[in-house]
Amino acid sequence: METIETNGFATMGLNAILLKAVDAAGMIAPKSIQQQAIPAQLAGQDILGIAQTGSGKTAAFALPILQKIITIGDKRKGKTARALVLAPTRELAVQIEETFRTLAKGAHISTALVLGGVSRIAQINKMQAGVDVLIATPGRLTDLVRDNRIDLSETRWLVLDEADRMLDMGFINDVKKIAKGTHRDRQTALFSATMPQEVATLAASLLRNPVRVEVAPQGTTAAEIKQVVHMIPTRQKKQVLSAMLKDETLSSVIVFTRTKHGADAVTRILEKDGYNVAAIHGNKSQNARQRALNGFKDGSVRILVATDIAARGIDVVGISHVINFDLPDEPESYVHRIGRTGRNGASGHAITLYDPAEEGSKFKAVERVTRMRLPLADSPIDLSSLPARAANSDQRPPRREGGNGGSPAGKKPHRGQPAGGKPREPRGEKIWSNDGGAPAQKRPFRRNKKGFGAKAA
Ligand code: AMP
Repeated sequence: METIETNGFATMGLNAILLKAVDAAGMIAPKSIQQQAIPAQLAGQDILGIAQTGSGKTAAFALPILQKIITIGDKRKGKTARALVLAPTRELAVQIEETFRTLAKGAHISTALVLGGVSRIAQINKMQAGVDVLIATPGRLTDLVRDNRIDLSETRWLVLDEADRMLDMGFINDVKKIAKGTHRDRQTALFSATMPQEVATLAASLLRNPVRVEVAPQGTTAAEIKQVVHMIPTRQKKQVLSAMLKDETLSSVIVFTRTKHGADAVTRILEKDGYNVAAIHGNKSQNARQRALNGFKDGSVRILVATDIAARGIDVVGISHVINFDLPDEPESYVHRIGRTGRNGASGHAITLYDPAEEGSKFKAVERVTRMRLPLADSPIDLSSLPARAANSDQRPPRREGGNGGSPAGKKPHRGQPAGGKPREPRGEKIWSNDGGAPAQKRPFRRNKKGFGAKAA
């Protein structure tokens, strides 16, 4: 994530209170998205931002809004919000509010959160006197607006954060209705990690002559993230994962699973194996999710198991490894998942457990979106060395071929070993990383199918 050293926040015309808070938050130089978006918003323009979490987009929309509210001074009306930020998930909304509070330190700015899954009463009470900045998820906000508990008619700044995810989650009608209820002369910013047609259409209907700001080309992955793919049959993934986690250099790990059920199953196994692990997904209560996230943030929880939706937007610094227990249904989620590590210029690792027999099309889709061939592990994991697990005792052991994992009978071979040649030599490094090797390179897209640990010639 690049920063522009020569052009500080001070040159953007932000007021002294904000500059002090920015400084106290350790934000010395504006990030690219901030450099592009803050002056335009201060000048009153709408923004169409293509940016992921980690790009610094929250401050990119929070600072101009705060600047304008501070300039206007205290003039709130009951039940109203001067600025509204819509976010797809509760976790992201909580984080956005934290950022607003951090950046508004020293100014008299009131914020409120309106989220599903928690009691309405406290939210209604908080809105009674009106607030400067309301951060909300669309479903609950729609309910409270319908019940006349919140009045959006004075809302002159609207931000849609992670618009693609909000639409994925089926919030399109709520979002449209909410936007319609805001002040006619509002200023709007829409941020999205991807720009599918549906988002572009929404943007066209809500934004007026927006300035388009973009930090990374759509679907690309940060260069500082070292990616590696291990071909593992699904039935052995839990054992492989547990074995990998014995390595304590995997110090702060998010494990992604496609389903809530999968997240629970993985969490149970890791707990049984003695790991310090917590799970977040949509079936967990808001409290349980927040507790898990707090534990992960403060380091008391080493491993967080998460589904894509629950984890989207989560900003935790210092995540050493992202492990894709399985490949996501939506290829763009791969980019979001691995973007949890390698933040703020730190190096990060992304490990993917891939079953070619079951996930071939998802794998191809990820390669298409990332426009790269995902790098296979230099040295395949020897699946026969894994401890037997009672839960798997009814399953066929992998067939060993050439000393590597073994290929399920009758499955088409897949790429992974040099064609007809020797298996790649282990480098004497951790078997699950390509450490020491080059970060994932952009390579021409080619496909060459060979199998799980293909047989040595
Ligand atoms: P976001 O993309 O808004 O989730 O921000 C990602 C992380 O970058 C957060 O932890 C911010 O505190 C941090 N951050 C945002 N802007 C800057 C900046 N200009 N300098 C340093 N860190 C920043």
